[in-house]
Order: sequence, then structure tokens, then C-alpha cells
Amino acid sequence: MTVVMKFGGTSVADPDAIDRLIAIVTRETPRDRGPRIGNAPIVVVSALAKVTDALVAVCRYAEDGEVEIAAQALRALLDRHLTVATAVTTDSRSSLVTSVRAEFDELISLVHALAVLREVSPRSQDAVLAVGELVSSRIVAAALVDRGIPSVWVDARAVLVTDAEHTAAAPDMIATCERARARVAPEHAAGRVVVLGGFIGSTASGVTTTLGRGGSDYSAAIVGACLGVDEIQIWTDVNGMLTADPRVVSHPRLVPRLSFAEASELAFFGAKVLHPSTILPAVHKNIPVRILNSRRPENPGTLITAEGRPDAAGLTALACKRDVTVVDITSTRMLMAHGFLRRLFEVFERFRTPVDVVTTSEVSVSVTVDDTRRLDDILEGLRHFAEVSSEREMAIICAVGENLRSDPAVFARAVTALDRVPLRLVSQAASRRNITFVLRDADVSEAMMRLHDEFFGGD
Ligand code: ASP
Ligand code: MG
Repeated sequence: MTVVMKFGGTSVADPDAIDRLIAIVTRETPRDRGPRIGNAPIVVVSALAKVTDALVAVCRYAEDGEVEIAAQALRALLDRHLTVATAVTTDSRSSLVTSVRAEFDELISLVHALAVLREVSPRSQDAVLAVGELVSSRIVAAALVDRGIPSVWVDARAVLVTDAEHTAAAPDMIATCERARARVAPEHAAGRVVVLGGFIGSTASGVTTTLGRGGSDYSAAIVGACLGVDEIQIWTDVNGMLTADPRVVSHPRLVPRLSFAEASELAFFGAKVLHPSTILPAVHKNIPVRILNSRRPENPGTLITAEGRPDAAGLTALACKRDVTVVDITSTRMLMAHGFLRRLFEVFERFRTPVDVVTTSEVSVSVTVDDTRRLDDILEGLRHFAEVSSEREMAIICAVGENLRSDPAVFARAVTALDRVPLRLVSQAASRRNITFVLRDADVSEAMMRLHDEFFGGD
């Protein structure tokens, strides 16, 4: 079995975290030349926790011409990396320190130039941000080597080929897979742990790019898909996906397994352990993605697969989105005129406001919006052809389960569980993978607790 292990920022935050990473990788790595040879994991790491944010701040200082503040922030970052690098290595220490310093020297001159120009293009920003993953991956690779685990650092920019959409580059899968086969596969076949920085890539002509914030999961999925690995593991600081937000329901359970589509529905409503679209390359190849806690490696975590739970009874999980606004729009003609929906959505489009839930009746449409910054303009625009009212302090509860399709009793159970909680809207998406309830924000805790008790048991 070959796995890609991706470690997020908190899982490489400091020397202790890196020690835990090493223990996890060690367990997975064959040390004797036995039958498991060739199955060392491929490791993808994020920048150390908070480093990317700090580098974004450095870019902003540079834009404002704050040369000294930017330089100070970079010195602090260099110090932090040197401390970590020194703590986790012995034999490799001096060469590691040299390469970390070299990365930062280059970064410091780049940022100085940007601060003098007071201009940070998306392309320059990518060059700055990339340093976080370049140094974290070098540190991890060196630490593994020092613990006697055959490992090699590979520059992710030589593997992930992307377009030139800086700050949100898209991979060229064909070119990337070719590079992965050429640069990663042979090292892996030789039994070495390959360590790559996540999040970063480069254009075909070699200019550094990034895949967008949180992009290390994406890197892991891309590399895993190219190499056809058996599993992609996302090592993070939580046990996995939960049946509900612990801030709303006191003792949510771990979701052991769910489908990719369910994960997408939940993420849309804020239950975001990972951004599901970033694991799409893996899902397309039918490679399971497992979320694991690097502080509790013995836990089974949450497994996301294309098909989800084999025993799909009841619901898979609940999610909610609080503080939304409901807009009711009634056609001023008796029946909805031809073109009414188009005009209506054009207004939301014009003010760049996405709508979440939509329900329609013969003469009226209700939608929920999360972002109310342009609400007044939207209401004004809608009043040209409809009667409009809006209600704030509402919320959406989303109950997700693949088997809502096959078992109509689940829907009935959910509605019954909500008993006397006043519901404003109820809708079931065409996918029939979720039921959405719109209700007063004040009723969310009660409603979530009732649903959770019904489907996942009480505390
Ligand atoms: N370090 C990058 C970020 O914070 C990428 C990642 O962590 O996935 O966005
Ligand atoms: Mg990060």
C-alpha cells in the first residue's frame, strides 16, 4: 500500500509537532529490506502554522513601503525557522541551516525590492508565499534523514506544473503527472520517503505559482492521483469530520465515513475540515481520502470516498449556517411572468451576492443570503418588478445523507424530530442528498439538538 501523507501547518508547527510527524511517517515506512520495500509514503507539507499569514502580511507591508517593518517580520520568521531546524536535526543541521538561510536571503532581497517599488503583483506574492512551503519541506526532509529514514526533498515546483493564474493557479494534470512519474516515482520505487512542499508549483516556463490558500490538500490529491496511490491522508489537528458543529451540539460524534458529495454539501454550510474541491483529483481516480489527527494517530479518522458509507442508514451529518437573511420576492403579476426568475437572479448577480437556499411557489420565491453588504441595493433592484421583504437573524440547517434518496422515512423522521420548532422554509435539493431547513437563528440550538438526538443519539 502506498499513501500520500499531507501534514497541515499545525502538524509541522514546532519541533514537537515535527517529532509526531516523524513517528507517524516512521510507522508507515519499511526499514528492513523486506517485502514492503518501495512502499514508503510520499509526504506533502504545509508551511509551519501561521507562516503563510505572516508572509501575506509582509506583502502588505511591502505594498505600503514599510521597508523596516517588512524586514523585521522576515527576521522573526527566519529565526523561528532556524530554531525549529536546529531542534529537529543533528547530522543534517548545518546543511539545513545553510539552505534555510539561502531561501530567506533571497526572500529578504526580493521583499526589499518590492517595498521600494511599493508594488506586489500576484506573481511576486506567489514568490514570497512559496518560501513557507519550501523551507518547511526542507526541514521535514532533513529531520527524517537524521532519524535514519531514507528520505529525499523534491522541489514541488519541479513537479506541479500550473497555468499562470497567480495566487490561484490550476494544475496541468498531464504535465504534472509526467513530472511526478519522472521525479517522484523513481525515488519512491527506491524506497525513499519523498518530501514535497504543498501549495506551490510553477508554470511551464518555471515561474513560481501557488494553488490558492489551503492548497496543500490540493497538492496532495494531485500528486496522489498522478501516482495512483492507495490512499491520501490529510493529517490535521482534529479527529475528522463531526456529526455537528461542537459549538452548537455539545457532544457530536465522529463521522467515520462519508461520500465526497456529502463532504461537499457539508463544506458549503461551513463544516470545513478540508475544502472538498481540493481533493477532487483523488476522488476522480477513486482514491480514498482520510482525515487524521496528528496528535492522535491511533484514531481511525474520517474516510471520504466516492461512494460513502456502505451502511447508509439515517443521516451522515448536520451542518448549520447562522445569521443569514431571507428575502421573499413575490411577482407583482398574479403568476410568475416569463423571465421572472432570470430577472430576479440577475439582480443578485449584479451585486455579486450568492444565494444559498432557494424555494419557489407559484407566485413567490424565497432565497437566503449570507452576505448582506449589498442587500439594500438588491432589494431596491428587485422592487422594480416584485414585492419584496426581508428578514434577518435567520439560519440554515442542512441535514446530509446519501440515503435520503432511497429512504423517504429519513425525511419524515427529521421533520418529526423538529416537532414544534417553527420552520420558515424546507427544501430538498435535486441531488436528494440533503434537506435544508430555514429557521430563526434563535431556534438553531434547539433544532440541531433535536435532530442530533434523533439521528446520532444523545450525549
Ligand atoms: N500554507 C498555505 C496556506 O496557509 C497552504 C496550506 O496550508 O494548505 O494557505
Ligand atoms: Mg497553512
